[in-house]
Amino acid sequence: MNVKEIFETMEYGPAPEAAAPGLAWIQERTPLNLFINNQWVKPAGGQYIDSINPATGKRLAQVAAATSADVDAAVAAARAAFETWSKAPGHVRARYMYAIARHIQKHSRLLAVLESLDNGKPIRETRDIDIPLVARHFYYHAGWAQLMESELPGYQPVGVVGQIIPWNFPLLMLAWKIAPALAMGNTVVLKPARYTSLTALKFAEIVQEIGLPPGVVNILTGEASQVGEALVRHPGINKIAFTGSTDVGRSIRRATAGSGKKLSLELGGKSPFIVFDDADLDSVVEGVVDAIWFNQGQVCCAGSRLLVQENIADRLIEKLRERMEHLRIGDPLDKAVDIGAIVSPGQLKEIQRLVNTGVEEGAVMWQPSWACPTEGYFFPPTLFTNVSPATTIAQVEIFGPVLVSMTFRTPAEAVELANNTRYGLAASVWSENINLALDVAPKLKAGTVWINCTNLFDATSGFGGYRESGFGREGGKEGLYEYVRPKWETLEAPAKEFHIAEESASTNGSRPAVSADEDREFEGGEQLLDGYTPMFPAIDRTPKMFIGGKQTRPDSGYSRDVYDPQGQVIGQVGEGNRKDIRNAVEAAHAAGGWAAGTTHNRAQILYYIAENLSVREDEFARRIVQQTGRSYADAAAEVQAAISRLFSYAAWADKYEGAVHRPPLRGVALAMPEAIGVIGMACPEEHPLLGFVSLVAPAIAMGNTIVVIPSQVAPLSATDCYQVLETSDLPAGVVNIVTGDRDLLSQVLAEHDDVDAIWYFGPAEGCKRIELASAGNMKRTWVSYGHPRGWMDTAQGEGEEFLREATQVKNIWVPYGE
Ligand code: NAD
Ligand code: MN
Repeated sequence: MNVKEIFETMEYGPAPEAAAPGLAWIQERTPLNLFINNQWVKPAGGQYIDSINPATGKRLAQVAAATSADVDAAVAAARAAFETWSKAPGHVRARYMYAIARHIQKHSRLLAVLESLDNGKPIRETRDIDIPLVARHFYYHAGWAQLMESELPGYQPVGVVGQIIPWNFPLLMLAWKIAPALAMGNTVVLKPARYTSLTALKFAEIVQEIGLPPGVVNILTGEASQVGEALVRHPGINKIAFTGSTDVGRSIRRATAGSGKKLSLELGGKSPFIVFDDADLDSVVEGVVDAIWFNQGQVCCAGSRLLVQENIADRLIEKLRERMEHLRIGDPLDKAVDIGAIVSPGQLKEIQRLVNTGVEEGAVMWQPSWACPTEGYFFPPTLFTNVSPATTIAQVEIFGPVLVSMTFRTPAEAVELANNTRYGLAASVWSENINLALDVAPKLKAGTVWINCTNLFDATSGFGGYRESGFGREGGKEGLYEYVRPKWETLEAPAKEFHIAEESASTNGSRPAVSADEDREFEGGEQLLDGYTPMFPAIDRTPKMFIGGKQTRPDSGYSRDVYDPQGQVIGQVGEGNRKDIRNAVEAAHAAGGWAAGTTHNRAQILYYIAENLSVREDEFARRIVQQTGRSYADAAAEVQAAISRLFSYAAWADKYEGAVHRPPLRGVALAMPEAIGVIGMACPEEHPLLGFVSLVAPAIAMGNTIVVIPSQVAPLSATDCYQVLETSDLPAGVVNIVTGDRDLLSQVLAEHDDVDAIWYFGPAEGCKRIELASAGNMKRTWVSYGHPRGWMDTAQGEGEEFLREATQVKNIWVPYGE
């Protein structure tokens, strides 16, 4: 073709990036070994697996297949390294991390080429997006290493972290995992995805090159069934950080249940891309290209559901088809290519299967007229119209270049359709009316909302899911908390666990764990009760349940006795069952408007509750004495602490506000902590009133509605709160209280699909059951693993840890300019 012809046709010639340096790098090293303790180690089993170039289907390299013996060695190396790395000053860690960032920039071209060769994604993306974001992530987190001491006082690293990542952004996912872990003083064992190990191994070379202490970063390639599962089950690992599919995430939740391992899960999505009729349609078309054809649609937060306002749907679809005709598919190393290869033949088959299902389900499929390359694994951009919301292709994550479109009429309908999914990773909203866009954003159940933009990422802004898209955030300050734990928390087995005695009536063993001092007081029983006559005559009334703002009788029709430490019956409470819990959850849902009210209003109500409690201080103190046998002074101190705690959260209600991030674009990202929704909670046994208030107050201060199971041995302090709540203007259904068997009731809450999070403060085996049962809808859990917590101590019993557990951060990206 001569210049004139090119000018006339405006065809791009091929502009391939040279593969040679990448291939040479592989050639010199293949078969590639494991990276343990800064050494290249042959796999214990002697096995290697192939890594394929998806654009050709040919073998690119051989990488080691680690086995559990290798996992043991890597964990041991990481454990040894943790001893010194965790104690290194933040500045020292920061310097290493800056060095990593600089070396990533230095090797960026090789990394981009390797990534495209191994994964099949276009070089334009690896060069301009993946690798620059990787460097940015290390720079940003080097800063947090430097600042940890001053900005996260009271926190320590978690320990050895097992990290498991997918193949769609191999090096970027590695950076999202390793950077915050190292910044916070942890050491890691990372497993790349089977199809894409090469850039992780190049990263290991950088680790060596900059002289990171041995054992801080260990990389094990291989199969999920060998390496992945061994990491998940390894007793020497303190946390698992996983990115991948929701199914595997669920199995990891189950496998780690009760182990005490901290867990963060970044899972799948089916994110809505919402277009209102006043949107700039040309920008929308480019937005859709970035939303669903970026990385061949193999993006967890891909805008895979196009929701269009009805009156512009035909026009937009027409424009889209026109644009799709001009997308270029082919050699990933060609700089002019928009769409590269699908990562593996299995993935290609799965995309085809789901597309066939869509056609069978009656949706209309459209693909451009041009053909895909025949060599390698390619799939054309695909658009479905006439899709009904309940069908497979509208609900299942296809993880390929396939867009399904649906229409809506009103903003309310758009929100409903957008939220009609079990996922909640991201959403895009397109409208020239900023008021409308900002009104819709908080209503979307998603961790990230992009307004008039899509698929933007930055280290400043936490990324992560709502609902079955997982829990935890990567990036931002919020992401750091996934890699730390409070300094007061010890990892040793609990010294004494508080169990509910089998036979509550028995005079020995039914009272709460008390300190040595309190024990002494208890010995002299008479003097304990010094002149005080219980003001509650035994069994004169049975508090009912508190559901939807009403005192309701237990469905079972039964009551359970409540005993004092001497075994005397001092009252009865309702014997709650499954039905009561279901009613309470329904009431909590109906009260969802609580979150939409002003924070000022919530603060006022919390102050009011505190005030009404303080009027009855003496009565509540006596109730604690009666149930626990503790001294009056001690009980009065608990009531005081509960009142103070209510004040704390009244104060926090309008002050826990989030942040305005300044990612490198013209615009801002608003990080807003939002209520999680309905939280189920089982209170600790040891402080009947303070335990209850410590959980209830932060949860409702942040806008959640709750179902609470009070202390099982001493429930009367919580049921006495009914009147306090009733007289404090708290809307019906915000707090629901169900008494009865803690373990039975909390199990029902943990299994309930309409409960969004569960808090459980009880014995270790109960924690395990809760974590297992919560895997159903991947609800967030916060359990004590039987570890004691000093509820009377404000550092342990209140504060930001509680507020964080009561919220999830949504990042709303708002670009500026026309
Ligand atoms: P996958 O779940 O099959 O595998 C992810 C990783 O887990 C791989 O390294 C794999 O080897 C390992 N693994 C698989 N089974 C395991 C087990 N039983 N125990 C331990 N490890 C195991 O996912 P994938 O196909 O690699 O990636 C695609 C999925 O990842 C999509 O669902 C996508 O939405 C999700 N994803 C999510 C995010 C996010 O941030 N939320 C980012 C990228 C990808
Ligand atoms: Mn590959």
